[in-house]
Amino acid sequence: MVHSTSYFCDIGPHVFPVEKFALVRAHLVNAREIEAGDLVTPAAAPREDLLRAHTPEYLDDLDALRWTHRTRMSELPLTAEIVRAYRLAAAGTTLAARGALERGCGINLGGGFHHAAADHAEGFCYLNDLAVAVRVLQHEGRIRRAAVVDLDVHQGNGTALIFSGDPSVFTLSVHQEMNYPVPKAQSTLDIGLDDRTGDAEYLRRLDAALEAVWSFAPEIVLYQAGADPYVEDQLGGLALTLAGLEARDRRVLDGCARRGIPAVVTLGGGYARRVEDTVAIHAATCRVALAAAPARTRRPA
Ligand SMILES: [Zn+2]
Repeated sequence: MVHSTSYFCDIGPHVFPVEKFALVRAHLVNAREIEAGDLVTPAAAPREDLLRAHTPEYLDDLDALRWTHRTRMSELPLTAEIVRAYRLAAAGTTLAARGALERGCGINLGGGFHHAAADHAEGFCYLNDLAVAVRVLQHEGRIRRAAVVDLDVHQGNGTALIFSGDPSVFTLSVHQEMNYPVPKAQSTLDIGLDDRTGDAEYLRRLDAALEAVWSFAPEIVLYQAGADPYVEDQLGGLALTLAGLEARDRRVLDGCARRGIPAVVTLGGGYARRVEDTVAIHAATCRVALAAAPARTRRPA
């Protein structure tokens, strides 16, 4: 399990609860799900790693903190502290992915920044940690085929764009159709759900979509476990309950475990009216991942 206290960064008054990263960590430690000493801290991702998913011009803009056509679609301020937090998250997901190949499961208590494209920021996302991790592992020759299972309420458009036309990466996005982003990008498989879709219909659609992922036979699954399909989410319009979200997590993580596929958890979005709900959803995802992990097949790193 990977976490950095510097995932927190000052973004001013904002709907994105950046305090959630530390709160999820505290929740898991207090519940004795993990020992504080078990957490691994990433160092900021080197430019070389970021270049595997992002263009040099865009990375230059981030380094220089420049508002250009590449950075201005961000809905966050652009400060050195914030850019650093995103570089840490990218390194964190890469580290969790390496851990997953060794132990069956890796969890980044952050990340899931799926709106960031190769050459521009979008939404609350500057660097696409999911894409960086996949590309770094491919470059190192540790994996060839990867799948990104993105269950955030918003479509994973940045991830879809980055891997568009790349047959080695299967991108699945299950999201609310009538929500940000507009227009949508094209994932390998997109499931655009109606407003107010509830647990039963969601899980039925997810089961069918996951069959396509399993058929692809990925060597690793990166799971964007957004908490925002929750019925109480301020930026989401689906109607999943806490139990439904946990069932969703089991579909993905037990499904990977049963098939011996290493799984990487990233947190993604979550804007519940009560931040405690967002934290509880993320913590439940981690609990499901930890419970599934021992059943996994050990794989050489
Ligand atoms: Zn979202």
